[in-house]
Amino acid sequence: MKFEYAPAPESRSIVSLRDWNGLFIGGEFVPGTGGSGVFKTVSPATEEVLAEVTSAGAEDVDRAVAAARAAYERTWSVMPGRERGKYLFRIARILQERSRELAVLETLDNGKPIRESRDVDVPLAAAHFFYHAGWSDKLSYAGYGPSPRPLGVAGQVIPWNFPLLMLAWKIAPALACGNTVVLKPAETTPLTALLFAEICQQADLPPGVVNIVTGAGDTGRLLVGHPGIDKVAFTGSTEVGKEIARTCARSRRRLTLELGGKAANVVFDDAPVDQAVEGIVNGIFFNQGHVCCAGSRLLVQESAAEDVLAALRRRMATLRLGDPLDKNTDVGAINSAKQLAKIRTLAESGDADGAQRWSPPCVLPDRGFWFPPTVFTGVSQAHRIAREEIFGPVLSVLTFRTPAEAVEKANNTPYGLSAGVWTEKGSRILWMAGRLRAGVVWANTFNRFDPSSPFGGYKESGYGREGGRHGLEAYLDVH
Ligand code: NAD
Repeated sequence: MKFEYAPAPESRSIVSLRDWNGLFIGGEFVPGTGGSGVFKTVSPATEEVLAEVTSAGAEDVDRAVAAARAAYERTWSVMPGRERGKYLFRIARILQERSRELAVLETLDNGKPIRESRDVDVPLAAAHFFYHAGWSDKLSYAGYGPSPRPLGVAGQVIPWNFPLLMLAWKIAPALACGNTVVLKPAETTPLTALLFAEICQQADLPPGVVNIVTGAGDTGRLLVGHPGIDKVAFTGSTEVGKEIARTCARSRRRLTLELGGKAANVVFDDAPVDQAVEGIVNGIFFNQGHVCCAGSRLLVQESAAEDVLAALRRRMATLRLGDPLDKNTDVGAINSAKQLAKIRTLAESGDADGAQRWSPPCVLPDRGFWFPPTVFTGVSQAHRIAREEIFGPVLSVLTFRTPAEAVEKANNTPYGLSAGVWTEKGSRILWMAGRLRAGVVWANTFNRFDPSSPFGGYKESGYGREGGRHGLEAYLDVH
């Protein structure tokens, strides 16, 4: 049963929406130079234009890289770790102090429910800075030699699904290890990165340690191909990741890639059904399914399939879709018209391939980009919706009979980022975890993140780890 709640909108008055006619270079907001342009960022929930933002050109990227290099050589790499750590702590505290402002801005620009930006994105971003602040003066105990050196200037490109959190995953370890950065946020979600630039000013971070250049793929291409960069870190699509790998292969710069996924969430017949259903819903409908490690393939044991699917449909019927700023909203807006078109195309391929589509009754708002929570049953491994990353609130259900078949089906993907296992038996969890080719295996839970836990993929999901002691390696000269 779906309870009716009165609207509970979070006030947006805490954010000051204005045009961000500048790039953050050398500690200041500076106008773009020749070759730059402007673009608009809109609210995916209403299509309202939120701000005009600068699109950085070649000269701007040059300036940002030069500022990062100067800061690296003169200040950051020679500063004792304990001093660097103080800046990271300060940033973490300011993220907490300004958490409501960041959450509202993230929800406006991205379309995700305020409940998630408030309770997941922003606290995890702050936790990432706290965690890495602690490493800054302890790098000699990280297992990478007595005094590991930083790499230099990192060029970092991030996607739109967790804008502030991905920024934190990139910037915090880079800075803790003594590198400076030039970061490019995604073109549909640049606003929290620009607010983060203000936070760097507020924290008195030395100029040039963090530089933010906004723009689309062309700006990203200029950044990752820039000769002044020592390390590239990218999160986004596998297609762009492959192009970046080709670019980096021509130089000595180090590269880490965090790409797509098509995770299997494996439910055995001894799993507690209600708990598993919560995990399935969290796995695929959290953040509208715009999650690289989303549990987008449900593998359910044949003997339990009927019960699990009936409980799943009941639970899906209680999900509230609508205004992302409403504190009761579970499912927000799709991030862009482009992403919505991609989800629609893949869902239509599911219909054409003969799978059965089901969504709970739900009214989609007139304006904005929306897609209802959807489940496809009768899916076979050959279907596109079982193979390709949809990156939306669409679950494909397959069944299995034996643990060996579950492993084979789960691993039958070019990706390998994450997996989930639901069973009462600890020994079966361990048996499965040893055989699943995925960077993260969750047992009786899903989509849990912690800065101390390394995250990353196998195969076409990329290489390198982010978070934990392992994540430091990506920003240290250990080879
Ligand atoms: P994308 O890979 O095109 O964009 C990610 C980032 O890379 C953005 O900042 C973008 O501006 C930048 N970029 C684009 N082309 C570039 C280039 N040639 N060189 C350097 N940077 C470049 O992703 P998208 O178009 O926003 O989404 C497409 C698909 O990617 C999605 O449907 C989804 O499957 C996948 N995706 C995965 C993740 C993830 O977390 N793994 C995140 C976002 C999107």
